Amino acid sequence: MSMALVQCKECNREISDRAATCAQCGYPRRPPPWTHLVFKIVIGLAATLFLGMVVLWMVLAWVTRKPIDIDMPDPAPSATSQLQDAPLRIG
Ligand SMILES: [Zn+2]
Repeated sequence: MSMALVQCKECNREISDRAATCAQCGYPRRPPPWTHLVFKIVIGLAATLFLGMVVLWMVLAWVTRKPIDIDMPDPAPSATSQLQDAPLRIG
């Protein structure tokens, strides 16, 4: 098991990447825990929002789905008008 060495941002000395703080100057390498928490919450909210939108979209698509419409093409206007204009003279 090898420990990677990273450079301390504060004193530029090499410290273990597992060290929470620099062994030389005590500079905290890792952000405070609350930052992780906020990050997790933000990521979680974003993921939830995204998933929610996807689910909502799917539900909407399912709810608003229509039975297959067999749309018979309208008869040609000329034919219709010819039928309507057909002389129907009584008396
Ligand atoms: Zn340091």
